[in-house]
This record gives sequence, C-alpha cells and structure tokens, in this order.
Amino acid sequence: MNKNSRVIAVALFIIALFFAGSYFYLIYKIDNLKHEKFLQTSEEMKNNLQDLIKEKSEAILLVTLGISANQNIKNFIKHKEYSKIQLTELVKKLEHYSSLQKIWLQLITPDGKSFYRSWNDKRGDDLLAARKELQYLLKEPKVMTTISTGKYDITFKAIVPIYEDGEFVGMVETIAKFFSIVQKMKARGSELLVVVDKSYKKQLEWSNQTFIDDYFISNPFQSKRLYNIVRENSLENYLSISTYLLDKENALLITTLQLPDVNENPMGYFILAKDLDSINLEDIQQAKYSILEVTVMIFLLIFIIVYYLYSVKYKRFIEEQNELLISNVEEKTKELEMQKEVLTFVAYHDSLTGLANRVLLLDRIEEALKRAKNRQEQFAVFFLDLDNFKEINDIYGHEVGDELLLQLKIRLKKSIKSDDTLARLGGDEFAILHTNATQASTINIIDTILIQMKRAFVIKNIETFASFSIGVSMYPQDSQKASELLRNAETAMYKAKDNGKNKYTFYDKRMTQMALERIQLDANIRKALKNREFIPYFQPKIDAKNGNVVGLETLIRWQHPTKGVLSPGAFIPFCEETDLILELDKYMLIESIKQVKKWKYEGLEFGKVSVNVSTKKLESSNYIEELSYIIESLDFDTSSLELEILESQIMKDPQKSIRTLNEMRNLGISISIDDFGTGYSSLSYLKKLPVNKIKIDRSFVMDIPQNRDDVAIVRTVISLAKNLNLDIIAEGVETEEQLQCLLQEGCHIIQGYYFSKPLSVQACREFIVNHMKG
Ligand code: C2E
Ligand code: CA
Ligand code: CA
Repeated sequence: MNKNSRVIAVALFIIALFFAGSYFYLIYKIDNLKHEKFLQTSEEMKNNLQDLIKEKSEAILLVTLGISANQNIKNFIKHKEYSKIQLTELVKKLEHYSSLQKIWLQLITPDGKSFYRSWNDKRGDDLLAARKELQYLLKEPKVMTTISTGKYDITFKAIVPIYEDGEFVGMVETIAKFFSIVQKMKARGSELLVVVDKSYKKQLEWSNQTFIDDYFISNPFQSKRLYNIVRENSLENYLSISTYLLDKENALLITTLQLPDVNENPMGYFILAKDLDSINLEDIQQAKYSILEVTVMIFLLIFIIVYYLYSVKYKRFIEEQNELLISNVEEKTKELEMQKEVLTFVAYHDSLTGLANRVLLLDRIEEALKRAKNRQEQFAVFFLDLDNFKEINDIYGHEVGDELLLQLKIRLKKSIKSDDTLARLGGDEFAILHTNATQASTINIIDTILIQMKRAFVIKNIETFASFSIGVSMYPQDSQKASELLRNAETAMYKAKDNGKNKYTFYDKRMTQMALERIQLDANIRKALKNREFIPYFQPKIDAKNGNVVGLETLIRWQHPTKGVLSPGAFIPFCEETDLILELDKYMLIESIKQVKKWKYEGLEFGKVSVNVSTKKLESSNYIEELSYIIESLDFDTSSLELEILESQIMKDPQKSIRTLNEMRNLGISISIDDFGTGYSSLSYLKKLPVNKIKIDRSFVMDIPQNRDDVAIVRTVISLAKNLNLDIIAEGVETEEQLQCLLQEGCHIIQGYYFSKPLSVQACREFIVNHMKG
C-alpha cells in the first residue's frame, strides 16, 4: 500500500467515524428532545385536568352558594315547606346554559336528614350514618368542596350551610360527575379515563357497574378506546405512571394523575392519553435539521481544513518532486550536453593536438565562403606538409614525432590571427583557414611560419629541424567550393615540394592540370609494365688499369611508344612517391638477371651486375623473401649480383640496415653504397656495415681536379675505403682529367661517359665483346 492510498483509507475511516458519531448523537439528542416534549405534554395534560377539576369545584361551589343565599330556599327550609322547593328547573337551566352537566342537588336538615333531592322524591333519609363528614359539618357548619366516591360513582361535592336570621337552618349539597371534564379534555385533544381505587369496590358494587380487575371505571363509554387499551394491558400498569408511557402500538402518549382522599390514600386515578400525531414535534424536527446542518457544516469545515492542509502539504510535495525532477533533468541535460560536447569535439577534432580536423575545417571554410560572399572579402586556405617527418619518426620514434607535432602546433598558432583556424588533417599535414585575407596578410603568415621553422625543436634533449612545404589557395579566384579550395591548396603544396621543399606555392590552375597528368602517368606506367615497355640499359664499369669490363650497372629506361626512350628522371621520382617503384625494381631485377644469364651463357665476361634498390623496396617487409625467391627461381649465381643502396637510405636506421644487409650477404649478394659522401655516414656504423663497395658520388667527381675541396673529399673517401678494406668505384667520370685525378688518388674502377654511356642490350653486348677482344 503506498502512502497516498494509506492517507485516503485513514481519511475515509475518520469520515465514517465522524458520521457514525454524528448519527448517534442525533438520535440521542432527538430522543432527549422527544422525552422532554412528552414529559411536557404529559404535564400539560395533567395541569389541564387539574385546572378543570378546580374550575368545576369552584363552579359547583358557586352554584351551591347561590342556592344557599336564595331567600325562598331559606324560607322554605326554615318553615319546613319542602314541597315548595323546585330545583329541577335550575338543574335544567345549568345543563342548558353551562358546562355543568349531570348535577344533583340535595338539601339537608341540621339533624342530618335529606329533606330535598333533585333526582328523586325520596325524603327524610338519615344521612349521618353513611356519611361521617356530615356529623362534623353539622356540628360546626362551614363551606366545603370535596371529590369523593359514594355509592354510585366518584363525584364532586360542594356543601354550603344555610342561615336564616342568624339561625343555622340546613345545608345545600351539590353533586356533579366528571362527565363534563372528560368532554372538555376531549376537546383539548386528550382522552381521559376516570378510575376509582379498588378499595372502593365493595361500596360501589350495587349493580352492573364497569370494573377492570377491582377498579371501578367511571366513564368507560366516554373513552372507549382508552378503556379497551387499558383493559387489555392490565390496568395496574397504568396507575403507577409517574411521568408518561409511550404506547407505540396505538400511537399514544399516556400519563396518570392520582387523586388521593382526605387521608392521602389513593382514591381515584385519571388516565390521560393523547395521540402522538397530535403532539407537535415540529421543533424537534427543526432541531434535527439544525443538528444535521451543524454536522454537515462541521464536516465541510473539517473537510476544507483537511483538504487545505493536505493540498498545502501535497503542493509542497509536488513542488519538491518538481524541483527534484527539474534538477534531475538539468543534471541529465548537462551530462548529455557534456557527452555531446565530448562526442562533437571528438568528431571535429584531432585527438593528438586537439586541433580542428578536416571535417571541422571544411565546415569553417563553408562559413567563410558565406561570410566572404556577403562582405566581398577574400580568404586563404593553406595546406602544409612537413618535409622530413617520416625521417624524424623513423630515427627518433613516434613519441618524439608526436611531441614535434605538438610543438609545431604552438609555432603555427603563433603565426596566425586568433580567429583563423588551424587544423591537422592527419600525419604531418596541417591546414590553415585565414579569413578576411589580402595577398599581403597571406604572405605575412607564410613568412612568419618560415621564420618560426628556422629554430630547432628540442625534444627529449634531441635537437632536430623541420620544414614545411606550403600550398595556398585563395577565395574567390581559385575556387568557390570548400573542398575544392582545400584540394587546390594541396596541389599547390605538392608543387612546392617538387620545387625542393621548405617552399611555398600559390595555387595555379595549371597545377590541376599537372595533378591530372600524374593520374595519367600512373595509369601509363601500369600499362607500360604490362606491355613490357621498361627495359634495362647497362652502363659498363671499367678497370682503368687494363680497360677490362669489370661490372655492369642496370639502369631503367622506358621505351615509350610515342616519346621514344625516357630516362628514369621522368618517372622514377613519381614511382617512388607511389608504390609503383616496388613493381619496377622487381621487374628490373628479373630482367637484368635474365639478360646477364644469357650473356654469361654466351661466355661474355663483365664481372658482376649491379641493380639499384630503392628505399621503399629495401624497407618492404617481404624484400628478402622476394629476393631469394627470384634468385632461386631464375637459378642465378648470386656471386655475380651486386645491389646498389643509397648511403642516405642505410643511415636512416643503421641498426635495421645492418640486419637487412646481413641477410642479403647471407644470400651471397655483394652490396655497394651508392652516392657515397651525400648521406652523412657515421664512421662507427660504416665499420659494422656488411658492405663490399663504396661508390663515390658523381657530385664530387664533377669538379675535380679543379675543386680542391672535392679532391680532398675524394681522397678521404678512397683512403676510408682502403682502411675499411672496401672496394672503391667512381661514377660520373666524363673527362681524362677526372680519370687521371682518380687514378692518382688510387681509384681505378671507373663508371662514366668517359668510357661509356648506359647502353641498350645490343650495344652493351657489342661493347663487352669489343673489350674482350681488346
Ligand atoms: P644512379 O644510380 O646514380 O645512376 C647513375 C646515373 O648517372 C645514371 O643516370 C647514369 O646515366 C648517369 N651517368 C653515368 N655516367 C655519367 C656521366 O659521366 N655523366 C653524367 N652526367 N651522368 C652519368 P640515369 O640512368 O638517368 O639514372 C638516374 C637514376 O635513376 C640512377 O642514379 C638511379 O638512382 C635511378 N635508377 C635508374 N635505374 C633504376 C632502377 O632500375 N631502379 C631504381 N630504383 N633506380 C634506378
Ligand atoms: Ca646506381
Ligand atoms: Ca649514383
């Protein structure tokens, strides 16, 4: 059961209790009121009766007094002329004109004899014997009224002495029944039954009188209903009623007035009854309604108070709940917003630097487009690519690389306006949206970046340098589309890179053309590979001491269907940017070996064949497996194979290089360090490298013997090779002076135009054959 239903149950219980209490109180109150009403009514009935009895006594007395004062009567009594007395006429008049009905008159002599009666002609009865009171009255005559029970009935009696000339001559007695009183009570709504006590039974038993038990009923016919009720329910019950009795069956209120005799013994009883219907209970009804009204009012009041208190409390509860709910909702909303913010941030930002990502940048460019359109402004998009990030990552590891990116972010931020957007597009690529731009402000930013990049970056005690290639596209001239502006800036960046790094280039529509050409080139190279348009040329290596061919270097050529024979410079750098170089190197290795095998089979003598290996190829994970597979499947004697590896390549990660080179050597392959002198070799590593040969770079040979520095370098390289017990060869030898200088310094293995340019298969064969003959 929850709290609410418990409250309702308690409230209902209290309401039920209240109404039950009210109901019982009402019943109790109404009973009380009824009791009082009945008590009052019964008292009224009794009082009425008593008044009527009193009135009747008085009336009888008056009549009696009147008669006693009558002179004729006096005279007749004094002179004992009874026959002359005629009071029947008076009785008739009284019955006719007053309520005094059934009256009897009697004149009594001073010696106690009845000498006149209005009801019969009997004269001379001695009354003294039967009526004790007369003995006293005659001795001491006085006026007297009584109610007494005689031989026939209970009656009123009034006795007045008659005096004539101061002499007591007799008495007048008037007797009356209750008949008229019963009538009068009836008129007032009450029935009356006159009952004589059972002690009078003997006295009254003279003919067929009406009795209930031993009680004489004076007026059974006058109050027939009451008589029947009383008779049926045992009379005595009714005689002792002190207050009232409710006869519900007959709808009567019954009460009893007792009449004692002179000695205070019971003589008579007046049983009074009144119809309940006739009792006016309107005021009780009124009281009932009043109580009901008050009850309802109290209930309403309590209800209102309780409701008020409850609603105040409930309102507070609801308010509290609301507050709770609101704060919950607010909390949740905040949480969601924070989550949303985080998600939004993640979706729109680079995780390492916290900078905007490509999506956000494009969004900002879209905004800038709208703004610039409305305000007729320009804006610039920069595409920045770090020139040597890969090397830094490879040499120092990714932690240093990441730290570098963070430092770069700080320097780039310093170079732009606060409302410009700096974004990281991935890897070492950054971009800048420079709004409200001019040519000057754009160049100013580039200058600031270039200056910022001149300082070394210090990361974990490592000092390193970095540079950007920067491409810039401008709105509106370069494009009106966000993605295109970014793409054009990228194209410009590639152009800058082509121009030699640490450079910037503004986008030019021709660049797009170039980009298209690159795509075209890619497709063409793939097609050329399929069509076997790539062919090896061979450049002989000569021992200058005797003119013998001691080796051949394989150099790729593209026999283009329309452009003729193309040199590697036209496509190798592009292939090195893509993965095409992997295919080309593999292709060249296979083609070279096949050719060399043929020549060896022919019996030509030319020493080892050396094949160039690109950086990418050397780094590819399956290089050694591929190499050994090719050698094995072509059944080639590896002692005739040499691989040329760039010095800069080896020095990127000397430890790794040592491992790879060792594996090559285990296959029986010789290794030559190409372009030696340009790759900052560390001597300590050089000592450990499993290489066989050093190839002096063409750039040092070019200016000897005139350039003293170059001569010194050549000399140093040659002595280094001798000390390390390595073979030495010079490339790019074109002149007699260069040759003589090299010979003088101790290097006699020579490659260069002086002896031969790279030759086609046919030409090379001829060259070898000729030299063998020579
Ligand atoms: P490289 O390995 O240093 O090859 C020597 C280059 O010098 C060749 O250019 C050759 O023709 C040129 N050369 C030789 N003697 C002289 C001379 O006396 N004077 C001048 N001015 N040049 C001379 P080429 O054939 O154009 O090759 C250029 C570069 O392309 C090569 O430089 C090599 O790095 C790369 N390359 C060539 N073929 C291949 C290949 O099959 N695979 C790979 N990965 N790279 C190759
Ligand atoms: Ca080479
Ligand atoms: Ca070279």
